[in-house]
Amino acid sequence: MKKYSIEEVLPYITKSENKNRMRFGRYKINMSSKIMNIFKDNDLTCQKCGIKGDHFRIYNTVKLFKDKIQIIAINSKNILECQECRKKERMTRPYYIRFKIYTIKEVIPFTVFSKEDTRKEYDGNLIRMNSLRYQVFSTKGLKCIECGIEGKFFAMEKSARSNNNNKYDIYHFNLYALDEQGREVLMTKDHIIPKSKNGSNKLENLQPMCCICNVKKGSDLTLSLLKEEDSGYF
Ligand SMILES: [Zn+2]
Ligand SMILES: [Zn+2]
Repeated sequence: MKKYSIEEVLPYITKSENKNRMRFGRYKINMSSKIMNIFKDNDLTCQKCGIKGDHFRIYNTVKLFKDKIQIIAINSKNILECQECRKKERMTRPYYIRFKIYTIKEVIPFTVFSKEDTRKEYDGNLIRMNSLRYQVFSTKGLKCIECGIEGKFFAMEKSARSNNNNKYDIYHFNLYALDEQGREVLMTKDHIIPKSKNGSNKLENLQPMCCICNVKKGSDLTLSLLKEEDSGYF
């Protein structure tokens, strides 16, 4: 992927209904495309953290970078977001579609400690009650062991990521705490001995932790959330 300076690309971006192709090496790039205009309209800058792209790389597509960090054009929102901010957002707030809020008492006492696929009906949705997370919260409490923030309610949610696979379409409970500003903080389970150091996925090696501390701790939360989804253990 060949590198081009900002000056070699930016001045040639146009707003036009018609395709305005310009040659970069082997590639002909449409300089009036929506993506090119998102780069220009956002002044090459990540709208979350303010880092500004310092070069383009052109292949059959055009990519904007600041050093090694890609700054991505988000088509649906017409904004630029850097890779790091996208990652951070995914880690601190996975995307869920919410059905309804439930109290702690409506969920915790019905935790099932078994591998058997036991389900309980809540407002027409059959929820799997043997999730390791509910097991951790019901035996080890609802407080983050790092910062002490406490889970206050459960929300019945499902992943908002579009995926043709049906298992993403299943509701589960997520436990939330509220921070000082009243913002929701997702509570997760943390591996005491990290999985990377062969820590087990058993209850004795798990503890409650909020997702902010989990991210600070540098554990692979996104990965474990994904794995959790994949195993259906929500
Ligand atoms: Zn950023
Ligand atoms: Zn915490």
